[in-house]
This record gives sequence, C-alpha cells and structure tokens, in this order.
Amino acid sequence: MPARELLTFYATVLESQKAIYDWLRGRRNWLPAGSVHEDLSVLREQVPSFLQSVLSVSPPALADQAARINSFDELLLEYWQHRSDQLFFPKAFLQPYAHWCVQSGALPRQSSQAENRCPYCYGKPQVSFLFSTEAGAESGKRNLLCATCLSSWEFRRVVCASCGEERPFKLEYFKSEEYDHVRIEACESCKQYIKGIDLTRLGFAVPVVDDIATAALDLWAAEKGYAKVELNLVGL
Ligand SMILES: [Zn+2]
Ligand SMILES: [Zn+2]
Repeated sequence: MPARELLTFYATVLESQKAIYDWLRGRRNWLPAGSVHEDLSVLREQVPSFLQSVLSVSPPALADQAARINSFDELLLEYWQHRSDQLFFPKAFLQPYAHWCVQSGALPRQSSQAENRCPYCYGKPQVSFLFSTEAGAESGKRNLLCATCLSSWEFRRVVCASCGEERPFKLEYFKSEEYDHVRIEACESCKQYIKGIDLTRLGFAVPVVDDIATAALDLWAAEKGYAKVELNLVGL
C-alpha cells in the first residue's frame, strides 16, 4: 500500500480503538481484571463493531486473515498468552483494552523483568522515542513504547532494544533526509532494528503514527537485511 493509504487505513484503526477504549472506560460498575480470560464476556461485546469498521477499509490480505478466523474468543485468548505481531486483529483489538488495564491499575508495574520488555504487560517494544525533560535540553531521555498496552518505560540510550548489545560500534543509526526526527536504530549483533522518534526535534510527533508514516524506512531496512523487533499494525 502507498504511504497515504497506509495512513488512511491506520486512521480508521485508531478510531475503532478509541471507540473500544471509551466504551470500556465508560462502562458502569466495571473495571478490568487484567486478564483476557476473565474479561472476555465484556470484551466480546465490542468485537462486531470493531470488525465492521476495520474491514470496511482493510486491504485484501487482512480481509483474508479475518475470513479465516474461526473463533475470535480463542484468538484473543491465544494472543494474550503468546503475543505475535503477525496477528493483526487481536493485537489491534486488545491494545485499547491493555492500555485501560494499565491505567486502571489492573496491570501494575512489575520490577525485575527483562529491561527491554514492558514492565506492565511484558509486551515487546513497538518503537523507541526521545523526549526532553527540561525545556531547551540538548539531548533527551530514551523510552520504549509497548506494542501491546502502549505504555512506555525508560531505557538506556545506547543499547539494542532487542538483544541488549551495548558496544557502540555494533549499533548503527540511519536516517533519511525526508524525516529529520525519525531514525532506524539497528544492531549488527542480532540484525534487528527499531525506529527511534526524536520528540526533542519535533515535539508534536506521535511515535506510533510516525512509525507507520515512515514506511519507506522499513523497506530500506528490510533491503539491508534487518528485521524489525515488532511489526506495526500495518505489517511493517
Ligand atoms: Zn505493555
Ligand atoms: Zn541486537
């Protein structure tokens, strides 16, 4: 899909996700338990409208994926146990749920987990971003943003987000002239990469959206033989 179509599709996905989030959050006398297994009877109610809106704009490959789903319940349960960036539907559907679980306290922050995994839900990082804590600061703090619950956590600056490599000569950064605030953060040890969004350069950038808007960089990275730590919702 051309970049513009990717963004149009993703805009609809975001709208559908916001509808799920608002609905869960506005539900009276209910808070999530923090496990899909326990919350399934509530989540299930949102599946038809989600599928309807996303399928209205889905590319054929995704429509095929949807047609092959036997049980959406099972798919949600399966995804929650074994996360996979190949499974668009449960990933997109559960992001707003997982986000609300974190915000409502159903998934509290855990300590002593792997540094490159989400401290709330153990998700992989979708994207890395820099932001400054003080106005006018030259460099920013680096955070990773979770692919599952969209929470973020602080991460050391010069470390591979996949394998933990920290020797500077093994870590490569690539940028294109087109996007000044987005770079590929690649690792020569594990041949994986993640995108880094520099909010100190473009404060109003939105990391998950910029990850999708800069699809050209993913194609470039794939040509160079790098695999992404976690594919985004448009499969790049
Ligand atoms: Zn998470
Ligand atoms: Zn690595």
